[in-house]
Amino acid sequence: MMNFELLVDLHINEYRQGPGSEKETLKALSFLEFIETSDLKVADIGCGTGASTIALAKKINAKITAIDLFPQFLDILKENAKKENVDDKIETLEGSMTDLPLQEASFDILWSEGAIYNMGFAEGVKQWKKFLKKGGYLCVSEITWTTPSRDQEIDEYWKVNYPEVGTASDKIKILEENGYSPVGYFFLSQDSWIKEYYQPLINSFSNFLERHNNSEDAQLIVKETQAEIDLYMKHKDVYSYGFYVARKV
Ligand code: SAM
Repeated sequence: MMNFELLVDLHINEYRQGPGSEKETLKALSFLEFIETSDLKVADIGCGTGASTIALAKKINAKITAIDLFPQFLDILKENAKKENVDDKIETLEGSMTDLPLQEASFDILWSEGAIYNMGFAEGVKQWKKFLKKGGYLCVSEITWTTPSRDQEIDEYWKVNYPEVGTASDKIKILEENGYSPVGYFFLSQDSWIKEYYQPLINSFSNFLERHNNSEDAQLIVKETQAEIDLYMKHKDVYSYGFYVARKV
């Protein structure tokens, strides 16, 4: 059982809390058709410390509600937004993605990078749809097989840890069955896992262990994170986060 406070502390000083990059956030954004000058209403669900929130705020004319379960992440997001001069475009909301206190049919864009798995892709796309205006966009990244077949080791790992793991066509089918029209798909580069996420995390391990006096719990989290990284390095050609852009019909 993971110790959530320690887990938050391991990730809090990182720019991203999951794989991704500014380039790929903007690549997903490039699939959207909208009027540059209009005031868009956006929610970034499971935003962490806000790497994607800030990338979006710098690029579009929008009011963005940045939502996360952990207020510690939102505090850092606010500091980062101020440094980037986009704090006037962002408001934070502490809460769960499974029970969002948002107004129905009021959002132009729902964004979520590396977070929807917390409630499951199918459940997330179903529950969140009501918050989008008709024609509004859902933009989510989600663990996806990038090849038709794979080794048993990695197949079993993901089936145990996230039974919903599937190919892009599985995910697109779920979107279509739930009243979305797919607009775009690509999968995240290996750089967005290694350079942007895993390498900075590895670099932070020794500080993290020091901060927690090398406690057993801290050592366990580092060991489990390193095992996740080793598995990715071994099987990085067969899975990634797929980025899905779809429009509410
Ligand atoms: N989107 C960020 C990024 O790409 O850097 C963070 C991705 S991180 C892998 C997943 C995020 O989901 C974390 O910030 C975590 O706190 C948040 N989260 C987990 N469960 C949640 C829930 N039930 N409701 C809202 N946020 C949640």
